[in-house]
Amino acid sequence: MGLADIRERITAAEEKAGRAAGSVQLIAISKVQPIERVAAVLDEGHRLFGENKVQEAAGKWPSFRETHGDIAVHLVGPLQTNKTKQAMEVFDAIHTVDREKLARKIANQAQALGGCPDLFVQVNTGAEAQKAGVLPEEADAMVAACRGMDLSIAGLMCIPPVEEEPSLHFALLAKIAERNGVAGLSIGMSGDFETAIAFGATHVRVGSAIFGERVYA
Ligand SMILES: *Cc1c(COP(=O)(O)O)cnc(C)c1O
Repeated sequence: MGLADIRERITAAEEKAGRAAGSVQLIAISKVQPIERVAAVLDEGHRLFGENKVQEAAGKWPSFRETHGDIAVHLVGPLQTNKTKQAMEVFDAIHTVDREKLARKIANQAQALGGCPDLFVQVNTGAEAQKAGVLPEEADAMVAACRGMDLSIAGLMCIPPVEEEPSLHFALLAKIAERNGVAGLSIGMSGDFETAIAFGATHVRVGSAIFGERVYA
């Protein structure tokens, strides 16, 4: 538990997998966490965070950016099309590009803003009805469509079904990434980030194991 412990475990997992030290980026998922816990992790020197709601992030991060300088914040939750512009202003990366309509909106805004966050295509590897993401068999077409809009795709992202062995989903996502020439893999959470690193994670999204359990009001 805690930032230092998770960092150590990431380093050990990189080494065990024969991967370069520092090849995995730790996104500290700060959604719902009390502001003091987030400040404590910032004070320990961490600078990469993730949020799942545009509004929550927009309220929290501008003041931290002022007090703590160079911070990156990634969106890991679903993005409504009408919040695209705000999301592109608030976030340095969007891990949840999951439909062409959203990609189109991002492409148009990127022209207007003169820049674009790093983009990850979310794949619903378990084909779960309640989960966002393109189906595995639609992923190649989605990546191609984004590239056709001049959007560069930094990576693929998935959230495996809770009841299933995550490694099967990580392996599937890695295969899709490889055949599409996509470099990044946003996989692995508190319970399975070491497995994810063995399967090639470039970004792990760890919340409760750093900050403690989330308490929803
Ligand atoms: C909340 C969340 C996480 C972090 O989950 P933990 O189990 O607390 O590590 C990771 N990814 C996404 C998309 C999330 O919404």
